[in-house]
Amino acid sequence: MTISIGFESTAHTFGVAIVNEKCEVLANEKHTHTTESGGLIPRELAEHHEKYALPVLLAALEKSKKKLSDIDVYAFSQGPGIGPALKFGAYVCRALAIEQKKPLLGVNHGVGHIEIGKALTGAKDPLTVYASGGNTQIIGLDRGRYRVFGETLDVGVGNLLDSFGRSLSIGFPAGPKIDEKYFLGKNLISLPYSVKGMDLVFSGLLTAAEQKIGKVDENDLCFSLMHTAFAELTEVTERALAHTGKKEVLLTGGVAASRALQQMMKTMCDERGVDFFVPPAWACGDSGLLPAWLGLVEYNAGIRMALSETTVNQRQRVDEIDVVW
Ligand code: AMP
Ligand code: MG
Repeated sequence: MTISIGFESTAHTFGVAIVNEKCEVLANEKHTHTTESGGLIPRELAEHHEKYALPVLLAALEKSKKKLSDIDVYAFSQGPGIGPALKFGAYVCRALAIEQKKPLLGVNHGVGHIEIGKALTGAKDPLTVYASGGNTQIIGLDRGRYRVFGETLDVGVGNLLDSFGRSLSIGFPAGPKIDEKYFLGKNLISLPYSVKGMDLVFSGLLTAAEQKIGKVDENDLCFSLMHTAFAELTEVTERALAHTGKKEVLLTGGVAASRALQQMMKTMCDERGVDFFVPPAWACGDSGLLPAWLGLVEYNAGIRMALSETTVNQRQRVDEIDVVW
């Protein structure tokens, strides 16, 4: 049975996972850069990955009881992501694949989220809501590619939450803490609701919410910020469902762990008679599982890459990838 190893380093997380063809996860080890206050600085991310790469790799090998020579395919997240962070994972994976004389594949991080989400939930042809720190897109397969039906025009919805959290001095990641406060809020404060066609804009919402810090109840403010952002996301998802006729929604990315977002999406899906899927929390965020699984899927579909094709691409989009599997 083919076994693949995946290296994830697009942003805050350095992850290594080992997976087989049945999507049995033999290991999924990671370490995430966090801060007490302040956000993500590219150089610090690369330093974090450099520090944790070897311990994470060794832990994954030990957990899986595999040697590097047992592994058939080496894959890494090629983009999108933050340059210095991305490059570090690519260097590690490339060096090991060359040394082991094994096939090497650079894979798209967003497509990785979709494919591992499908494999773990059983969703067949979902409209995917990919909601993470750096990315927010509504994506569906159409004519051989994952097409983007709507997306943020500025920051990812997770980044909105983390930036707001920074203004509240709650450190990174702020999403989980704001998600708890959501359920403590009682009053909806009016904030800018900004849907442009099928796309979303969050920076006006962030500024308006920041201006209310200290002037209104903090729980109410967290509730209102999340409610506004997630209502926008749910509205666009519903319209994409109506347009595409798809019968499934897959919610993934780190923000998919939000109970508030899950509730809103599920309510909308129930009302439309659409099946709603969320992968287990450990598979929603960034991890080596994304490139490990997608690398295996692509390898089994016959995709091979020359070393020269495995440079990182900070801006690589899901809709640049031919879905031939
Ligand atoms: P990712 O980039 O996919 O790993 O996702 C990370 C993002 O998910 C960060 O912006 C976090 O703040 C956010 N996040 C993680 N858990 C939650 C949660 N329970 N509720 C809301 N946001 C979350
Ligand atoms: Mg991600």
